[in-house]
Amino acid sequence: MLQVRGPKAQQFVDLLSAYSGWTLVLVNATVTFSTSGLINPFESQTLQDLVGEILRSPNVVEVVASGSKPNPAAGFFFDAFFANPMLPGPRGSVYVDDILKVQNLSPVLARVLMGHVLREYFLASYPPGQAPGRAFFQFHVSAIETEAQIASDLMGRPVWTGNRRAWEGMSGTINVRSYGPNMRFQLYFTAGDLRAVKGP
Ligand SMILES: [Zn+2]
Repeated sequence: MLQVRGPKAQQFVDLLSAYSGWTLVLVNATVTFSTSGLINPFESQTLQDLVGEILRSPNVVEVVASGSKPNPAAGFFFDAFFANPMLPGPRGSVYVDDILKVQNLSPVLARVLMGHVLREYFLASYPPGQAPGRAFFQFHVSAIETEAQIASDLMGRPVWTGNRRAWEGMSGTINVRSYGPNMRFQLYFTAGDLRAVKGP
C-alpha cells in the first residue's frame, strides 16, 4: 500500500505515474491503479514492477510530498528517509522541487532516483501499526541495485555482473553513480546544490 500526503501529494503521484507507466490515482491519501488500466510500455519495467508490488502489498509505504525543503540551505535532497536535523519535517519527506530539478537535467536519473526512494521505503515497510525498519544501510545498497536496473531498462545497457556491483559515492563535490561498464552518472554540486548531470 502506498500512502501519499503533503501539499504536493497529487504532483508526486502524477510524477510516479509518468515514471512507472502506470495510470495511478490518489484517493484519500492512498494510491490506486486507475480503472482505465492504461500502461505506458516505454517506461522501466523494473520501476513498473516495483510500484505494482508496493500497491498490492499489505505493508504500508508512507510518503510526505513537499515542494521545497524546510531548510533551503540544506542544498539538494531528493528525500529525507529519517528525521534529519538539516531537514526539519516529517520522516519520509520527498521534495518534489528536487525531483523536477533532476528531471530537467536527466529524465533517466529522475526515474532512477524515484526507484531508489521507493525501494528503500518498501524494504523498510511493515504491516499497518508497526514501525518502519531501520536497517538503513542494507536498504540503501539494495536501492542502488534497483537504480542500476532502471537505468539499464531505459538505456538498453548492461548492469555490472560478477563481483562488480552498482555503487555510488562522492568524489569531491561530484556524486558518482556507476551502474554498469558503460553506465556512469556524475552529479555536479556547487555549494550543496545540484547544478549539472553528466550521463553515459
Ligand atoms: Zn538511499
